[in-house]
Amino acid sequence: MRTLVLGAGVVGVAAAYYLARAGHQVTVVERRAGPGLETSFANGGQIAANHSEPWANPGTPAKVLKWLGRADAPILFRLRADPRLWAWVFRFLGNCTARRARINTERLTRVSLYSRAALGELRAETGIQYDQRTQGILHIYRDPREYEHALAQAEMVRPLGCVRQALDAAGCVGVEPALAGARDTLAGGLYCPDDESGDAYTFTARLAEICAGQGVEFRYGTTVERLRADGDRVTGADTDGGTLTADATVLALGSYSPFLTRPLGITLPVYPAKGYSVTIPVERPEGAPEVGLLDDERKLVYSRLGQRLRVAGTAEFAGYDTAVTESRVRSILNSALELFPDCGDAAKAEFWAGLRPMTPDNVPVIGRTRYANLILNTGHGTLGWTMACGSGRIVADLVSGRTPEIDLEGLGVERFG
Ligand SMILES: Cc1cc2nc3c(=O)[nH]c(=O)nc-3n(C[C@H](O)[C@H](O)[C@H](O)COP(=O)(O)OP(=O)(O)OC[C@H]3O[C@@H](n4cnc5c(N)ncnc54)[C@H](O)[C@@H]3O)c2cc1C
Repeated sequence: MRTLVLGAGVVGVAAAYYLARAGHQVTVVERRAGPGLETSFANGGQIAANHSEPWANPGTPAKVLKWLGRADAPILFRLRADPRLWAWVFRFLGNCTARRARINTERLTRVSLYSRAALGELRAETGIQYDQRTQGILHIYRDPREYEHALAQAEMVRPLGCVRQALDAAGCVGVEPALAGARDTLAGGLYCPDDESGDAYTFTARLAEICAGQGVEFRYGTTVERLRADGDRVTGADTDGGTLTADATVLALGSYSPFLTRPLGITLPVYPAKGYSVTIPVERPEGAPEVGLLDDERKLVYSRLGQRLRVAGTAEFAGYDTAVTESRVRSILNSALELFPDCGDAAKAEFWAGLRPMTPDNVPVIGRTRYANLILNTGHGTLGWTMACGSGRIVADLVSGRTPEIDLEGLGVERFG
């Protein structure tokens, strides 16, 4: 089947890989000069399947209020006269109940565990290298109350298949010796031995090369302007380089997806949540962590990517602005240096900002629409790298007319009414 994949982020390229593998003729359309140059470029690098939890939970509204006005607030709403943002916030608050958080955690975990396994298989199939590490991810806590809460949460997600091993401060240092200097500040940790990390950009770029070798056509520097529909089918897309026709179209435009679906009458509540990363060149390997880390209280993740340490996190709801705010990245850098003072040359650190495509329930939108051959693959929010391979496999199954290997309950756009 002739299939268009719109967007060459990690989500679009992974879908292209599985579509080509299923025998389809695939064209990927991307406005940038290459793959993975927007949100998939310098993210936190974690395949955090065991931490597939929505930001929308009962504790978040009070925390956001507490952080108001702080330059280093882990979550910051720059409220502005944007009706899409207000509608999104309203829906987000509706998901901050214990019941909704439980439902959304199950949906996220279902996709993430499936996706992590798919990534492992893809690695074995292709031999792809992307500074990956498979030593697990350690979640660290300083506040004993937060740690107690995390332990209770770990019990709650155990039946979903999540493995989180409780560790005291000494146990944390045992897993990651570079934490030795911070030992006295730690209340405890949760170790997820099956989780992974790796450079999402390198993965996306190399997978795109593999796809090209399998016959996938990449049209870079091409902007999609609108989708073309005829009755209950999408016939293709108008781009600034002409009209492309296809039997099936997969929409994977990250935070920009709603602009293409709206003219077709499909309202996608995907809104950008800006996040930042700091990449520090590692100079003393023993001073930087090797195991992936999650500092849950500060909403920061640490991934060792070869000779670099990537530290990423925080969220800012500020529209589509991707400017790097100095105070926000400095605060991330300072947190990293507090934990790992000798990790590398901070003066050479690189700063970056990207827009997470967030749905208000934090669950991605994967599935068919009222247009039988238009498939959505977007809204992966905080976990797009974690969920890319699984989402791509689902998309390939849908285009091929096969039943996906996991239940799609609660993943479709229809859940938003
Ligand atoms: C600071 C930060 C840290 C993160 N850390 C992690 C992490 O540790 N683990 C994890 O799993 N996830 C993480 N994420 C989330 C993850 O990066 C995203 O969910 C993921 O990159 C989204 O991929 P995507 O392909 O949907 O979007 P994108 O990578 O943004 O790709 C969409 C593509 O569509 C193209 N496009 C848009 N509009 C058009 C158009 N009209 N025409 C043509 N092309 C168009 C864009 O140029 C872009 O290349 C993090 C995100 C941030 C910001």
